[in-house]
Amino acid sequence: MEEKTIQIAGSITVDELAKALGLSVTSLIGELFKNGIVATINQRLDFETASIIIEELNLKNVKLEKKDTSTRTSNYTHELSDHAVLRPPVVAVMGHVDHGKTTLLDTLLHKKTVEQEAGGITQHISAYQLKHDDRIITFLDTPGHEAFAAIRQHGAMLTDIVIIVVAADDGVKPQTVEAINFAKSANAKIIVAINKIDREGADIQRTMADLSTHGLQPEEWGGDIIMVPISAKFNQNLDKLLDMVLLTADIEELKADVDIPAEGLVIESHMETGRGSVVNLLVTGGELKTGEFIVAGSTYAKIRTMLSFDGKPRGKATPSTPVTVTGFKELPNFGDRFVEVADEKTARKMALLNAQAIMDETASANVTSTDLLRMMNVADNSKTLNVIVKGDVLGSVTSVIDSLKMIDTGGEITLNIVSSGVGDINENDVYMAAGGHTVIYGFNVSVPINISKMAARDNIPVRIYKVIYELLDDAKREMENLLDAEIVEEEKGELKVQGVFRTEKTSIITGGEVLTGKVEPGYLVRILRKKQPLGEAEVTSVQKEKMDVKELIAGEIGGLALKTTSRIDLAVGDRLVFFTRETKKRTL
Ligand code: GDP
Repeated sequence: MEEKTIQIAGSITVDELAKALGLSVTSLIGELFKNGIVATINQRLDFETASIIIEELNLKNVKLEKKDTSTRTSNYTHELSDHAVLRPPVVAVMGHVDHGKTTLLDTLLHKKTVEQEAGGITQHISAYQLKHDDRIITFLDTPGHEAFAAIRQHGAMLTDIVIIVVAADDGVKPQTVEAINFAKSANAKIIVAINKIDREGADIQRTMADLSTHGLQPEEWGGDIIMVPISAKFNQNLDKLLDMVLLTADIEELKADVDIPAEGLVIESHMETGRGSVVNLLVTGGELKTGEFIVAGSTYAKIRTMLSFDGKPRGKATPSTPVTVTGFKELPNFGDRFVEVADEKTARKMALLNAQAIMDETASANVTSTDLLRMMNVADNSKTLNVIVKGDVLGSVTSVIDSLKMIDTGGEITLNIVSSGVGDINENDVYMAAGGHTVIYGFNVSVPINISKMAARDNIPVRIYKVIYELLDDAKREMENLLDAEIVEEEKGELKVQGVFRTEKTSIITGGEVLTGKVEPGYLVRILRKKQPLGEAEVTSVQKEKMDVKELIAGEIGGLALKTTSRIDLAVGDRLVFFTRETKKRTL
């Protein structure tokens, strides 16, 4: 019998498998059913499930093979050749909010960006270049707030040198520490800019001491970290800072190959009317030219136009150069690696392969062997917050999602991203949300009036934000609403039963002495006999000398009427412990 090999890249649909096996779809579905799997024609089966079925069918001539998806551009890495050339350093500025990152970039680049920021936060990663001593330095303008930790993390990955800005009048703060950790994990060289030295209260020595307790030893104290005191606002010592950047670049001997196909990273992407997809790239190797084909993730482009960071057209871009290109069929993802290919045919093929691999990784199969295991496991008690995330650019969508995932719920709440994408809230989002309780979050996008009406009709919350941490606060509140309320009991007092006057099915009249605390009508009661609980009741009234009173306090003797849910045979000598019970909303 002829041998047949079926390649599976992650998963295969029932339809595809039937065709590959030369079986009818119905007979394959029948076979799956016999194995306890209820499948439809478009259902995806993972490799293990497909293998089991083939074994069951006794198809000895069929061999399954896991398809190698290593052609993915995201795996594209290579060693430098010995004729690699020097390239400009790529620098990111990080630090705690308000310590002066934007001002520093501003002064360095003589441009005004502060006014454009919503909520005072730089929202999108972008890049700029400047000349110092006739040499080029590339700056990545990484967003400032901790909510953008995700992007910043990517930002650090792209960078050779991280300038950590610390305000001399404020010292090391949580985001300073975060920046230090990011820089270290990304293997970037660190230079510290001690900022705001013009300010009263600025203390350079104390800031240095502060930094050294966080693992950054200043060079002048015998350590290996260059620290430059500056005033970003008043342009003090910025030349020195740039000198240090170039010095560090020289020591690092930052190089790239230029005689290889162009490659690099997607650092921003969005749609623009009239221009289509507008994508910012950072070239990391080779030379990128207009007219060339590049693949990034599951999409590709014939580069139609290419602009420098300052909007000037350019024909080619060498390593460490940020450019804005148009020509992508669809928007690539922030952080995707791009690579130049020979022609459109190769580009299309590679993009397809990548799409397949991405689908296999993310969507994975509908029926997997882990599903089976999950079904066998005890029911999962966690609750789910379903969300749809829309943003103006892919970078912000990614950051919102990453930041949402970082909300710590101690494992009690599961976050389910129903869907996400770039653009205004649309009909499809509302349809998607209609299935279950789903919140639609939009970041820097709008909701057309008809869509907002549609959502209101279906009771679907649509929330639009311009500032990310407001969005996160809201999501946190949504999650808190899902948490089980906390039950808080407070003990109020104790009474020793000295007489039982009547015991009925749901009521008891009793009397005794309050030993500690007090008792009021409305309190709950735990009935104890020799410390063992007999049941619970509620105090309906309290009497002293046959008169209804508001309370009985320690040392007083009186009567009580109790309401019970079942008959309790109270006896002299039993103890009544009074308490209140409240349900409290929990917070994260
Ligand atoms: P970012 O959040 O780190 O980007 O901080 P900004 O650049 O927005 O700066 C926060 C505030 O500090 C702004 O009001 C700046 O004008 C101010 N600032 C930044 N650098 C300096 C400086 O060197 N000296 C003084 N006096 N103020 C500064």
